[in-house]
Amino acid sequence: MLKGKTALVTGSTSGIGLGLAKALARQGANVVLNGFGDAKGPQDEVRALGVQAAYHGADMSKPAEIEAMMGFAAERFGRVDILVNNAGIQHVARVEEFQPEKWDAVLAINLSSAFHATRLALPAMRAANWGRIINVASVHGLVASAEKSAYVAAKHGLVGLTKVVALENATTGVTCNAICPGWVLTPLVQKQVDAKAAANGWSNEEATRHLLGEKEPSMQFTTPEELGELAVFFCSPAANNVRGVAWNMDGGWAAQ
Ligand code: NAD
Repeated sequence: MLKGKTALVTGSTSGIGLGLAKALARQGANVVLNGFGDAKGPQDEVRALGVQAAYHGADMSKPAEIEAMMGFAAERFGRVDILVNNAGIQHVARVEEFQPEKWDAVLAINLSSAFHATRLALPAMRAANWGRIINVASVHGLVASAEKSAYVAAKHGLVGLTKVVALENATTGVTCNAICPGWVLTPLVQKQVDAKAAANGWSNEEATRHLLGEKEPSMQFTTPEELGELAVFFCSPAANNVRGVAWNMDGGWAAQ
């Protein structure tokens, strides 16, 4: 379905980003990966699906590096047809104890990076009259949790940005939508499980049960593969008129 198209997925060396990149690759899209850590393994995984993969190591907190990444993708593949703004970090502390540098970092990586990548991707998408912008927000783009001020503010902001970009392009073939996962067992969440286990003297299993039990009625993690299928739907012709939605896959979290 996406043969000949190019997808750029930020923060795709692990977790959800890598899952989304592979789901789009399975549909035939060439992929530009981004993120820290091992870049070779993820590129090999994508290439094994029969498409081309490239990698750019832009730090998504730095607008000049985001610009270099978008330039690299255009040079390598002609243009970016599908932009997935996925890179994100978490920091947990009460507001009065939240270090200002951590606030700035969460806002830069989880929100401002999406603005920069989007503004740079839009001209070519509009010229082609086809484009898909998918923002990986969170159930925390819809509801809040204590001790996650920067993350919740950034994800609510990302849902807002999604709606504005959708409206500004509503008469074109360019759509913009958000995905709002509940808990997904990635390194970002394992850190929170580890912190719970250490603070309460629980095993990994007990800490995981408590983590899910507090918020997620299904008591199940959503998987990167399931999120990938939603991204594929957003890229399909059936989703031509799906614009500005924030679609949760959260085991019932936000329904409570
Ligand atoms: P992860 O830690 O597994 O992956 C994060 C990715 O972002 C990695 O590839 C990492 O290298 C990259 N990254 C981090 N800082 C970066 C920077 N400055 N520049 C470039 N890349 C950077 O996390 P994940 O759980 O897969 O999270 C992916 C997205 O999904 C995030 O936006 C997160 O907020 C969102 N999300 C995650 C969950 C969850 O339960 N895991 C739930 C809802 C939303």
